[in-house]
Amino acid sequence: MAEKDTRSVFLLSLGCPKNRVDSETMLGELLQRGVSLAPSPEAADLMVVNTCAFIGPAKEESIEAILELVRQKESTGGRLIVAGCLAQRYGSELLDEIPEIDQIIGTGGVGEVARAASSLSMESSTEALPRLFTPPLGQGDGAFGTRVRSTRGGSAYLKIADGCDNRCAFCVIPSIRGPQRSRPIEYLIEEASALIDGGVRELNLIAQDLSAYGRDLEKKPHLADLLDQLSGLDGLRWIRMLYAYPRPMPPRFFDVWGSRENILPYLDIPLQHASDRMLRLMRRGPDTAFVRRHLEDIRSRLADSHRDLFVRTTFLVGHPGETVDDFKLLRDFLEEMRFERVGVFVYSDEEGTPAYEMDAKVPPEVAEERRAELMALQQNISAAHQMTLVGSRMEVLVEGASEKSDMVLQGRHAGQAPEVDGVVYLEQGCAAPGDMVDVEIHRAHEYDLVGRILRVTSKAAEPVGTLFDSELPLIRAGATLRVDPSKVGR
Ligand code: SF4
Repeated sequence: MAEKDTRSVFLLSLGCPKNRVDSETMLGELLQRGVSLAPSPEAADLMVVNTCAFIGPAKEESIEAILELVRQKESTGGRLIVAGCLAQRYGSELLDEIPEIDQIIGTGGVGEVARAASSLSMESSTEALPRLFTPPLGQGDGAFGTRVRSTRGGSAYLKIADGCDNRCAFCVIPSIRGPQRSRPIEYLIEEASALIDGGVRELNLIAQDLSAYGRDLEKKPHLADLLDQLSGLDGLRWIRMLYAYPRPMPPRFFDVWGSRENILPYLDIPLQHASDRMLRLMRRGPDTAFVRRHLEDIRSRLADSHRDLFVRTTFLVGHPGETVDDFKLLRDFLEEMRFERVGVFVYSDEEGTPAYEMDAKVPPEVAEERRAELMALQQNISAAHQMTLVGSRMEVLVEGASEKSDMVLQGRHAGQAPEVDGVVYLEQGCAAPGDMVDVEIHRAHEYDLVGRILRVTSKAAEPVGTLFDSELPLIRAGATLRVDPSKVGR
């Protein structure tokens, strides 16, 4: 058994990139308090799991992870903190059902995990928090705290807001994450600058509702203002917008986007459905006619600056009330729009949401069939799109060794977001993580491309300080992140 360091922590992060940023902040604060990181739970004095609770499978994964750590605790000792969305949503139930948990810290207490960790690992501390710590949501000024980046190859997420003011019928996020709190531009610029100094070339902007950024701040800055300032930062090569709820945007947003080369022609715009009846049931704002106009408008504006837009969207099937005709509308829409990237999710019946109370539930097996049908259709659309890229040259950000083989590098082009889209496998040529390279594509799969490096166009800035820039000691499925302390601070 590995020897324990009495001030060491093992952190397991589950769920989406927003949770990952919270985990990175926890890591930064833990290190600042002199707590070291353990490579495995058995070597740790304290285990922290940052959970997800968005839908059924995410909750199941979180519970399994907690139970695994409880088994570890029973065999090798140590303390256990459960943080994040599951902790926020079911804190007292978790303590009742799993008494081995030492502390529950909700999403409003991310900043307290390090304090709790250091106090739990020091018997005599007077700093201990209550066993159930779920402070009111919506606090904090969004200041830039210490953060350790865990993403690969010169890429990072920048969380520009937390929480959501929408009330989509199927979604529990507003009750877990609270109302929208946008982070002031000055804090975001400070954080982005620190990330760039640490070797970051690509920032992926995230929030629950990116396009509502700034509405809750006193001076009401718009996303356009943030993009304007971010795009002027030296050394920042790519800015990517993720989770942009469809809503009208002012002309200056398109002016900034169209005129700055480092704002990528990529838009992640969750649409959820294409039947107006379903969109109303889901309590989504815009109808399908708006979405069509909006996307046409964006594509033509970017075409003015000679750039092809890559659109990623997500759809939800099996929501209560979805009929065969609704589904057919969605399938026809998908066929017609030919989006470059599509994710399809099956409705999860979550208590506390308006959809939970609705009648006309769709049997899960029917919902799953609909999901599979849409994904099969999209696979063909994606393959056809990928084929158009064979023979072309494109700039690629090198991530590092591929997950398939240490002998092959992998990277992403402007139309590929980290973790959710495909990658470009680089079969010939040399480059380091964080380098930008000119690549000729010679093969295409449904989601991935294969090419060779023609030349390095921009060397990675030193140092590329991340946990995982070379070998990959992490589990990536579902964005699960295991922290390997030997990779910290390199
Ligand atoms: S926009 Fe809707 S689906 Fe997205 S987080 Fe907000 S309430 Fe949930």
